[in-house]
Amino acid sequence: MTDAAAANAAAATSTSTSAAGYDLRRPSDAEMTKLTASLDREEARVLLHHGTERPFCGTLLDNKKTGTYVCRVCGLPLFSSHHKFDSGTGWPSFFAPFDEAHVANLRDSSHGMARVENRCARCDSHLGHVFPDGPPPTRSRFCMNSISLEFVEAGTPLPDLLNRGDPTDH
Ligand code: FE
Repeated sequence: MTDAAAANAAAATSTSTSAAGYDLRRPSDAEMTKLTASLDREEARVLLHHGTERPFCGTLLDNKKTGTYVCRVCGLPLFSSHHKFDSGTGWPSFFAPFDEAHVANLRDSSHGMARVENRCARCDSHLGHVFPDGPPPTRSRFCMNSISLEFVEAGTPLPDLLNRGDPTDH
């Protein structure tokens, strides 16, 4: 193996597992077909086609329980209740992700606005947008669609939908 190939292999290994210990390799097409099979029309519109749910209608907006918010499609932990706050916008809001590597940031210039879109870093499902007007210490406001998230209460094991041996403690 050349030095360059070795460096690439090392980089690929270091970026496929997050600091929190989750395998971030993208699911195969067959795995995605299986994972998305149970999505209803509205869930598919938001998660797979970058839609936005109407404000104040999501089921997780007023959830104040302690636990973890995982990706509706692949089960990756995305946010913790410890970082949730009431933004008054009508969408569940967080000031930090569960792990920086779990939530991807993409430039989004649709609808004539310059925004930063968030997607699940593992399965690429659409989550919402992040804005620079959140509370301290980060000043970030991750504005999420409830439909993109699944809440797992503390004490209940996290799902390992891809059978990769991901940590189930949280
Ligand atoms: Fe995902």
